[in-house]
Amino acid sequence: MVRGVSVIAIDGPVAAGKTAVGRKLARALGFGYLDTGIMYRAITWLALKNGIPVDDTNSLGELARANPLEMAGDPDSISGDRVSVAGHTLGPELRDSSVDGNVSAVSMASPVRKELVAQQRQTADKGKIVMVGRDIGTVVLPDADLKVFLTASLEKRAQRRWQEMRDRGEEIELFTVLSETLARDKKDRNREDSPLKPAEDAWELNTDGLDIQQVVQKIINRAGSTGDPK
Ligand code: C5P
Repeated sequence: MVRGVSVIAIDGPVAAGKTAVGRKLARALGFGYLDTGIMYRAITWLALKNGIPVDDTNSLGELARANPLEMAGDPDSISGDRVSVAGHTLGPELRDSSVDGNVSAVSMASPVRKELVAQQRQTADKGKIVMVGRDIGTVVLPDADLKVFLTASLEKRAQRRWQEMRDRGEEIELFTVLSETLARDKKDRNREDSPLKPAEDAWELNTDGLDIQQVVQKIINRAGSTGDPK
């Protein structure tokens, strides 16, 4: 049904549904899955632990180069996402508010991006992959067979993020999550290196009012009409 489609890029702003959709889509197609957000989160966690200032671009680059990431975890659950780095296996702490508040600053550092993009491309070399992030269609995999740019209203996205945080036991006001979501989006969209934006040939899909399965089905349909019909 999706013959000819082997590499799928999914980008979009905070909490547009990329992770849940990407994971389910990969499973439905029998593809591998890589959430590049947790790679930036892992380097942010390590920088905070080592006391490296999040605006010290060179030290952040050295940190990323010296500590290659190993992706692991339970492919069936978002909270099962794990990354091993520098002898630490990280899971839920990747989504702590300290990481949330600093990850956009760390991901502005070009030397960090250069290193992580190299690791991401290596993963995609084998094909049959769904990769999600901010710059997958524009920078990491510009030749992807299908590029999807997921969006949703700010209110829906903040609500989703707030619910996830509450489910993890974090006490936080919806309004706080809303303003942090706005701030992170703004930094991601306005940074100089690889800003968040749809690739020119991306298919934009607004997920307001759709559940995960409906979004996945729409992408599979799109892949079916994009792929080689032979
Ligand atoms: O997707 P997630 O919210 O986990 O990503 C965390 C942060 O990592 C983003 O806000 C963005 O600053 C950064 N990121 C990035 N490029 C990617 C993926 C994530 O800059 N490909």
